[in-house]
Amino acid sequence: MQQVLNAFREALSLPRRVVITTHHKPDADALGSSLGLAGYLKKKGHHVSVISPTDYPAFLAWMKGNDEVIIFNEGNEARSAQLVADAELIFCLDFSSLARINELGELVRQSPAEKVLIDHHLEPEDFAKYSFWTTEAASTAELVFQLILDLGDKDLIDAEIAEALYSGIMTDTGSFKHPSTTARTHEIVADLIRAGANVHKVSKLVYDTNSLERLRFLGFALSEKLQVLTEYNTAYMAISAEELQQYQSKTGDTEGLVNYALSVQGVVMAALIVERQEAIKISFRSIGEFSVNAFARNHFEGGGHKNAAGGVSYQSLEETVNKFVSLLPQYKDQLQAKVLIYE
Ligand code: 5GP
Ligand code: MN
Repeated sequence: MQQVLNAFREALSLPRRVVITTHHKPDADALGSSLGLAGYLKKKGHHVSVISPTDYPAFLAWMKGNDEVIIFNEGNEARSAQLVADAELIFCLDFSSLARINELGELVRQSPAEKVLIDHHLEPEDFAKYSFWTTEAASTAELVFQLILDLGDKDLIDAEIAEALYSGIMTDTGSFKHPSTTARTHEIVADLIRAGANVHKVSKLVYDTNSLERLRFLGFALSEKLQVLTEYNTAYMAISAEELQQYQSKTGDTEGLVNYALSVQGVVMAALIVERQEAIKISFRSIGEFSVNAFARNHFEGGGHKNAAGGVSYQSLEETVNKFVSLLPQYKDQLQAKVLIYE
């Protein structure tokens, strides 16, 4: 680690052309770690471009640097390709396989730039020269914080960088509720608050800026769509494209929905199955030892973390639901295992 850090420090010793990229449909950790890192690298004199493969929720569009984010699939393909080809360093944040950034992935792979991976997802692809990767980290933002610290630049973390990083830590720990939350997490957050992060402002902007339609949609999903399969300790919701349209659903409006399914007493695995334009997208969550990373990887071309993963299906919504339900019997024993001693 020390060797990687020294070589990395050397790589940053001159002003560099830097590209930072993050995963499809960035969440708060993806965007917050990217913009936090961008803010820091700019202060160090580097020329930094942040490229997102797609758009992201409006409740994230307040971070410093947001206005300069290049959305690849919104007519910026050629410009992005140029920046990636000309870059000297490309940072890949909050994803572990290049397929997660869509067509941008191959451009990054082909670029002569040195690649830097900063991530906490399982089973990383081997493409980076510098890797700051551990599944021990609750968030990528935490890893960015640690990296800035290790480079001796804690003092460069200003309020804006701190709030971007705090957003990632707050959301990826489920607001400091997941088992990944440690004393170290809180120590880092204490430092971010000292650097000027306003925790009330961030949680208000990220969690409490609902449109009325989004709340109505939540009510609809909970009353009409939530299915609980008691025999398998599994709960799921399947939402059609038409239903999304009825509630004028926007990017990010389904975020967090799967957690309601997981919160049902006794539920060990939850899934949110959503009919998107390109394909059916599935969010998986679990409690305890049941690995939704393995489940998503084995059956839905996906992956993620042990307790939070995603996947995709190219069948119809109904066929996808049937496939999901028909897989459960083979996992019955695992799903019935008592997961929490404090239950
Ligand atoms: P979410 O359900 O919130 O979209 O994603 C949960 C976790 O799984 C995140 O860490 C996310 O990066 C990962 N993830 C979501 N979708 C996919 C996917 O299609 N493939 C892989 N490999 N990971 C995913
Ligand atoms: Mn993350």
